[in-house]
Amino acid sequence: MKKYQLMAPGPTPVPSQALLAMAQPMIHHRTPEYEALFTEVRRGLARIFQTQTDVVPLACSGTGAMEAAVVNTLSAGDTVAVVRAGKFGERWVEIGKAYGLNVIELAAPFGQTVPAERVAEALGKTPSIKAVLTQHSESSTGVLHDVRGFAAVTRPTDAILIVDAVSSLAIANLETDAWGVDVVVAGSQKGLMLPPGLGFCALSERAWARAKTSTLPKYYFNLIQERAFVVKSEAHFTPAVSIIVGLREVLRMLEAEGLPQVFKRHDRLARATRAGVEALGLELFAKATPSPALTSVHAPRGVDAEKIVAAFSKTHNITIAGGQGEMKGRIFRLGHMGYAAEFDTISALAALEQVLAELGVPVDFGASVRAAQKVFAEKP
Ligand SMILES: *Cc1c(COP(=O)(O)O)cnc(C)c1O
Repeated sequence: MKKYQLMAPGPTPVPSQALLAMAQPMIHHRTPEYEALFTEVRRGLARIFQTQTDVVPLACSGTGAMEAAVVNTLSAGDTVAVVRAGKFGERWVEIGKAYGLNVIELAAPFGQTVPAERVAEALGKTPSIKAVLTQHSESSTGVLHDVRGFAAVTRPTDAILIVDAVSSLAIANLETDAWGVDVVVAGSQKGLMLPPGLGFCALSERAWARAKTSTLPKYYFNLIQERAFVVKSEAHFTPAVSIIVGLREVLRMLEAEGLPQVFKRHDRLARATRAGVEALGLELFAKATPSPALTSVHAPRGVDAEKIVAAFSKTHNITIAGGQGEMKGRIFRLGHMGYAAEFDTISALAALEQVLAELGVPVDFGASVRAAQKVFAEKP
């Protein structure tokens, strides 16, 4: 028997409290029971999203919520600026183009970020930009973008800021209302520790005003219609009832831990992981602020990163992730988001040492574990 461990940058492990709750018999969504459930969930979501406005859940993966954000706030022919520094940034470009938007790319090499000054410059040069789209945590490269800085430069303009926070919600601090972020998009299978299947959109009043005049086509993803149900703790269409039941459990867990502590935990796991891989002489892929959700690592010279990912899986029954697109074969990615704790990090690093040794890389056994333990031993 080899115990299975999921250490990918999403989907992430689901805590047993949520699994057990989701295994309960199905309830109908047009009942007082569902209304009570969803009333609690709404309050919890507002706290996690750090917003006063209603968060709209949708039965889709994170990409569905990205699409919903675009089709509800923009109109045919609009110009948008996209921070493109990874595969998920490319996804914003693709969605924009699919809807005929005029996309200005603010590109940076993968592993880097785009400074807020460049966003400000683009907004100054092209005042017709209706929205700036970005990731918070770019999961393909492991970089955390400066959403606070982007918000500071978009807020005084007519452009709204749309943030893909799928791998940062309940992982890295994102002060939706206080920073002035207009749309926050999230999914269930990363920091929220749930199975995939729920997407979320949180809109500012400015973004809801845009939604009123948006002309892009939409039917299922009509957020104004959905919000009319959300405010009554109902759903327009059949919701993903079981995942909403699980959501109540994880919201209670996050509430009990406290958001500041949730962010601190992820930061510690990320720092320990980085210290561990660097202690093995490996190079981090992220050259800008690293994401607390995952760590992206260059494979050692002469080793195909896909072989590392395969060895984790075949030899140790652990799922990690490789690189996407042009990063395939060059990097591997270790997830440490959601239901993750210190000894998951220790396991991942210990497994990495064994995998590297199996692939013929000289390894000083224990070096990465020791480095991580030193981070964990630091006084808070
Ligand atoms: C996981 C993820 C998504 C969503 O992907 P889906 O497969 O559609 O859930 C979007 N953006 C980022 C940054 C992600 O990490």
